[in-house]
Amino acid sequence: MCGIIAAASNRNVGKLLVQGLHKMEYRGYDSAGIALHQIDKIAHLRTLGKVNLLEEKMVDEKPKSKLGIAHTRWATHGEPSEENAHPHKSNERVYIVHNGIIENYIDLKEFLKKEGYTFSSQTDSELIAHMLEYYLNKGNSMLDSMYLTKEKIEGAYAIAAIDKEDDTNVTIARSKSPLLIGVGVDEFLAASDPLAIGQLTNEFVFLEDGDVAELSSESYTIFDSAKKEVHREVTQID
Ligand code: GLU
Repeated sequence: MCGIIAAASNRNVGKLLVQGLHKMEYRGYDSAGIALHQIDKIAHLRTLGKVNLLEEKMVDEKPKSKLGIAHTRWATHGEPSEENAHPHKSNERVYIVHNGIIENYIDLKEFLKKEGYTFSSQTDSELIAHMLEYYLNKGNSMLDSMYLTKEKIEGAYAIAAIDKEDDTNVTIARSKSPLLIGVGVDEFLAASDPLAIGQLTNEFVFLEDGDVAELSSESYTIFDSAKKEVHREVTQID
């Protein structure tokens, strides 16, 4: 099992995202990557192999960002490689990380290819980025695009997504894969494993199956599978 982590903060998040990936290394993985929102563009770094190698790239490039997503991959579809490492992107606009398996990926890939999308990986995950972009392009919000995408995809997933046109929010969704929110100080985090963010907070909100949530540095909002805003209990783990 691999891991995802996301952060929306008032401070730079690059380091804490990579530290979170280190904490999830015990789960096993073959590659790692990160996408960091930088207002005019999204920095996108991926490596085959250890998180240390990603960290070296980060030290070289020093990307500054207050909003980002990161991933350690355990390949299920497509060999372990930099091209197949997450985050995956669509048209330099939408960047996603995904844990799990999209079972109907062949049909959805065909649909998106017909819509003009080109794929740069062999994964089942890349289509999520294109599907979100497809719906955003039609004028939907990211929240609505996530629900529309959820209607199409079958399988298990924890997803975190950012949009170049929005430097404030990260949108997350889960179905049959673990995902939780961490309540920080002037920041909100998401991860597949509390360990990934345990150095930053001891307050966690465990999402239920079918939930979608939006996180900014100031707040988070959770919606259930029927897109109804819901309150989920905050659990303290010391
Ligand atoms: N199925 C996806 C892939 O092969 C995600 C694997 C994972 O959960 O890391 O890229």
